[in-house]
Amino acid sequence: MRNVLMAISGPSGVGKGTLVKELLKEDDTLVASVSCTTRAPREGETDGKDYFFVTRAEFESRISEDGFLEYDEHFGNYYGTPRSFVERTLKEKSVILEIDVVGALNAKRVFPQTVLIMIVPPSMEELETRLEGRGSETEAERKERLRRVKYELEQQELYDYVVVNDDLASTKRKLQEIIAKEKNRA
Ligand code: ADP
Ligand code: 5GP
Repeated sequence: MRNVLMAISGPSGVGKGTLVKELLKEDDTLVASVSCTTRAPREGETDGKDYFFVTRAEFESRISEDGFLEYDEHFGNYYGTPRSFVERTLKEKSVILEIDVVGALNAKRVFPQTVLIMIVPPSMEELETRLEGRGSETEAERKERLRRVKYELEQQELYDYVVVNDDLASTKRKLQEIIAKEKNRA
């Protein structure tokens, strides 16, 4: 069995965070990479768990040290995947990156073996309901996120797997099957 690097992408509010949390609960051979960001923590988010919350100056200094496997700017803030954490962890475990489409494709350029998984909503209406139900963004922020959805969904064909997050339990099972298959690939 090999350790795999997976990037899970999909529109904001589709359920990526929820699914990753569920997967980690049941599999101690899986680790989620914690990204760095310059955005402010949301209520309930913990530094070092949800993200490493850093200043723009700190982020830019890490860029200059080649400290990110990939990084990007969304909604006016930087987000990046710490390179050393991923490289070190992959020696022992499989690693999940929860990142946007551009980040995932950049990660695949650096690590061509990266498995790209896109989570898509059953419908736009359901996506809007979930994003609203989460209640963590203002209306303006939600609209900005929803404007990106069409672009994100158009990138599906570049992905290795596309999974509809309809029922949470069955989506989790499908992801577990994908991970098992990829780990057993020669
Ligand atoms: P993302 O990380 O993709 O932005 P979240 O994991 O925060 O999305 O999920 C957004 C909201 O949708 C949350 O309130 C979550 O509980 C809910 N959710 C996630 N998956 C499902 C599902 N399969 N069915 C219904 N609601 C879901
Ligand atoms: P949020 O602010 O909702 O947590 O995330 C905003 C966007 O940034 C999401 O699309 C999320 O997938 C993306 N993102 C989170 N971490 C990273 C990262 O390390 N790199 C890149 N490129 N995008 C990220």
